Amino acid sequence: MKKIALLYHEVVDDFKESGFQNNDNLAYMHSTEVFEKHISIYKDLIEKQNATTTNEYLFTFDDGGISNLRSAKILEKNDLRGYYFITTKFIDTKGFLSKEDIINIHKNGHTIGSHSHTHPMIFRTLSKNHMIEEWKKSKNILEEILGEEILSCSIPGGDSDEKTYETAKEVGYKYIFDSEPIVTPRKFDTLEIIGRLSIKASVSDQEFLEILELKNLSSLQRKRKIKGMIKKMIFPIHQYMQNKKNG
Ligand SMILES: [Zn+2]
Repeated sequence: MKKIALLYHEVVDDFKESGFQNNDNLAYMHSTEVFEKHISIYKDLIEKQNATTTNEYLFTFDDGGISNLRSAKILEKNDLRGYYFITTKFIDTKGFLSKEDIINIHKNGHTIGSHSHTHPMIFRTLSKNHMIEEWKKSKNILEEILGEEILSCSIPGGDSDEKTYETAKEVGYKYIFDSEPIVTPRKFDTLEIIGRLSIKASVSDQEFLEILELKNLSSLQRKRKIKGMIKKMIFPIHQYMQNKKNG
């Protein structure tokens, strides 16, 4: 069975209202209209596929911006639920969810997970201890708010290495979502690694449908690989730019 996890961030009509405010994030901010269109394209496809597929689609949202309230409502209206990954340091700050919001989203049937505590931009450059601290602190905060165990997390910035998975497992997560365009779940001991297809705001309806149908999966994987190689080559510059972003 394939797990086709879609990666979203904000669903906003004014990008200043929600989430991390930097120009790079604009590429991941969807208008309400576009997001609603995506849901209707998805529903049409599922209806067409009927029982002929065992593929599971997951809607995931990183960062914990206040606009999660909007995307959650849209999903609910369509009998769907999402995964919301919260950067816990920003809870109750401007542009981000409050504790109360998180409780409400959870109450309405969505899954709440950790997106680290402070959102370090290149997660894999952290030491093992620092990673454990990020994973543990955010897990504890969310568990305190919701009164239940938090089993899922997603990697801030999407860049991971083996110790990213190792530390998430050690802290007690069962599912980790990364940003690799891979739809077959991987295993790291007891931890399940779930890849994601990042949905940019610039994709056309047709391109979105092709993403859902996995028509361009190998090209996405190629692009991701090339991007990774470039990042490695320009690593010091990349690191500097990323660290500047979220302060
Ligand atoms: Zn993020």
